[in-house]
Amino acid sequence: MTLVVFDIDGVVADVRHRLHYLEEWPQDWDSFFYEAVHDPALPIGLELVAKYQAEGHDIAWLTGRPEWLRPETETWMLSHGLPIDELVMRPDWDYRPARILKVQVLRSWQPRDIVLFIDDDPDVIAQAHAAGFATQMATWVPHGKTLRAAQEDVGRT
Ligand SMILES: [Mg+2]
Repeated sequence: MTLVVFDIDGVVADVRHRLHYLEEWPQDWDSFFYEAVHDPALPIGLELVAKYQAEGHDIAWLTGRPEWLRPETETWMLSHGLPIDELVMRPDWDYRPARILKVQVLRSWQPRDIVLFIDDDPDVIAQAHAAGFATQMATWVPHGKTLRAAQEDVGRT
């Protein structure tokens, strides 16, 4: 089966309402993550998932959210009708930049035919593209400097 790989935050989930937890000092990472249950869904992202499912592709998720947030993440996804059979999350205590982590996971899936990888982080997209993967940049939510730092510099999501 062919596989289409989706990021979550900035692709199907709108994180903007909780970014303020990272913009204050000290940063409140626990609140930032726990508030994810209240993320509005992004209609463009949901439509893309439905489109690729209808075309017969398997859907897999590759998120920088930490593993400990799995129950909340799966509940949220199910509430929006999203499949959760394959969901890879950032291992707890793994703070490598998202671009390193995600390309490593993509490579580990490679015996399977990954036809597209969709993410909103320009650094992740650039690295995946350089590694030979077909990519689509999610541009429907502006990717701000707060999230960029969280994903690439601090390596926490
Ligand atoms: Mg993202």
